[in-house]
Amino acid sequence: MFCIFCKIIAGEIPSYKVYEDESALAFLDINPVNPGHTLVVSKKHFVNFEEADEETLCQVIKIVKKIGLSLKKNLAVPGYNVAVNNDPVAGQAVLHLHFHVIPRLDNDGLKPWPHQEYQENQAEEVLNKIKIN
Ligand code: 5GP
Ligand code: ZN
Repeated sequence: MFCIFCKIIAGEIPSYKVYEDESALAFLDINPVNPGHTLVVSKKHFVNFEEADEETLCQVIKIVKKIGLSLKKNLAVPGYNVAVNNDPVAGQAVLHLHFHVIPRLDNDGLKPWPHQEYQENQAEEVLNKIKIN
């Protein structure tokens, strides 16, 4: 087996399964940000987002949508975050493609994104580097 999520998919490690089909598994994160925090993982092992083929990504994102709808409907939360920590520098601890679906509550104190301002010309410079023609 490749990794801990592969072991969960194979049933070698137990998990609280929220949804499963032939392409993906959704299960409760063992250390939730809020109760109901769900991980959606591809059944195939891909180390990160850009390694995964487009068909897999489409299948997985459809499950993310299903989970979000279930969180809103069944936990009555007003919203949720969909997050991918892509690569260790971004906080990815488990190197197997996964999406976090994190139910959000009013005033739950989570502030995921500190912002900064662009310096002069910095936006144009970075844009010229990353722009896809
Ligand atoms: P990452 O930091 O890689 O984006 O997120 C990995 C997530 O997997 C973490 O939120 C962590 O709590 C969760 N996790 C790690 N090991 C296990 C496990 O054995 N079972 C479950 N259910 N979640 C796990
Ligand atoms: Zn894996």
